[in-house]
Amino acid sequence: MFCVECGKEPDDLYEGLCKDCYLKDVDVNITPSIDIEICTTCGSVRDGHRWIERPDMHSIMLKRIEDSIEPSYKVDKYSFTADFYEEDPRNIHAELDLIMECHDLEKQTSKETKVIFKNGQCTICSRIHGHYYEAIIQVRPTKKSMTEEQKQAVRDKIHKEVKVKRGDERSIFVTSMEEKHGGLDFYMSDNGVSRKLSKQISELFGGEITVSSKLAGREDGQEIYKVTYSVRIPPYERGDFVEHKGGIYRVKEIRTSSGHLTLTELKTGKPVTFDKRDVQDIKVIGGEEIIKESVIVSEDEQEIKVLDPDDYKTKTLVKPEGYVSKGDTVKIIKYMDKILLLPEH
Ligand SMILES: [Zn+2]
Ligand SMILES: [Zn+2]
Repeated sequence: MFCVECGKEPDDLYEGLCKDCYLKDVDVNITPSIDIEICTTCGSVRDGHRWIERPDMHSIMLKRIEDSIEPSYKVDKYSFTADFYEEDPRNIHAELDLIMECHDLEKQTSKETKVIFKNGQCTICSRIHGHYYEAIIQVRPTKKSMTEEQKQAVRDKIHKEVKVKRGDERSIFVTSMEEKHGGLDFYMSDNGVSRKLSKQISELFGGEITVSSKLAGREDGQEIYKVTYSVRIPPYERGDFVEHKGGIYRVKEIRTSSGHLTLTELKTGKPVTFDKRDVQDIKVIGGEEIIKESVIVSEDEQEIKVLDPDDYKTKTLVKPEGYVSKGDTVKIIKYMDKILLLPEH
């Protein structure tokens, strides 16, 4: 038994070679330099198709070095340690100590490489800068313009929810907001969040949602759609006074899920529920601001006499069933020269 390479006659042969000849080819290759791309905006590090937020640089460098090592076919197993020396903040010199194993043999070697940090832009930062959006939430009034209070309520809702849903997830953000057609448009980075938010906004006002989507292109062979959630908010809000088919009502409850609207009829003090489709031509008289106070002159079971707050003449009003006055005044609204008692009093 002798080594086919050097002719020595050792106790053990490895694939026809002595230990020394066999170990000559036991080696690893490492690329002379390794690029690591860092987002200049947020400091994330590219890892293939992904970006790692708040990276642990030391373990990333070790992982990238490991990925760059190519052991020769003879190596069964290897391990290494690395020491890093900063040449400048963007260039790191790495010295490696490796132990390679094959059969029952071990070989030690040293290698070196260089880690170079390159500038890049992560997916999320480029989305934020590039006006990226997956969905639009459109909030529209039924008539005229949304009130400033309504707009503020919508803005608050969206910003609050985006903050909550985002948590650590930077991919959820409001790309931009526009005032349009008396309402608001929100360009949103995330479709799922937009769907939930549009529902919450419609519930806030008792509005209707229409969803439409448009093919916006292809990405990795998949069709990309941009979705628009259009929330139409009704002309009335809870607590408003409205006229419908000659009756005067106060809006008590707007139920988005069932499409119903419950109104309190001022004449009777009783709640009446309508299908929202049947009250398309409802007329809004006003809100809280039209409530006035009127002094009670006298009162019996059926009627109450009050002073008209405008001309101080005594007017006689029929009390709705179960109406109880408290104190010296009653709350009223005036509409078309008529005084109406508020049953909530
Ligand atoms: Zn040999
Ligand atoms: Zn970034």
